[in-house]
Amino acid sequence: MFDDLRDLYQEVIFDHNRSPRNFRVMENADREVEGFNPLCGDRLTLFLKMDSDKIVDASFQGSGCAISTASVSLMTEIVKGKTEAEAETLFKQFHEMTTGKEENVNLEAIGKLAVLAGVREYPARVKCATLAWHTLDAALKNEQKSISTE
Ligand code: ZN
Repeated sequence: MFDDLRDLYQEVIFDHNRSPRNFRVMENADREVEGFNPLCGDRLTLFLKMDSDKIVDASFQGSGCAISTASVSLMTEIVKGKTEAEAETLFKQFHEMTTGKEENVNLEAIGKLAVLAGVREYPARVKCATLAWHTLDAALKNEQKSISTE
């Protein structure tokens, strides 16, 4: 990866960690799921407002490391207005990108989430980045009130 691109990615992560987007409790949320990553101690509660199969609003609360906070902040921004199916597709692409199983992830489709591609070089941090998405997956399936990455 080029150094200037890496710097840009780090700047986006710092920015989302410093001022997380959609960091609030949602009144009357349709879905509320707690996510926990015991490896790092990252904890978050994800709130979703649904209109049939569409995510009309997403927010979160909690505390975690810079990677987990930036990841959930970016995720709440990107899934707003998406259908469940579109969000699941993003989850799969994000998972493939961060675990390195797929070399040719469509970075255009994944948009800003590409800033987290670098975690694949740090296996211990992958769960920090994917915690938000596993929590979203559980919220969309609507079967569990809490999930853990372990
Ligand atoms: Zn973490």
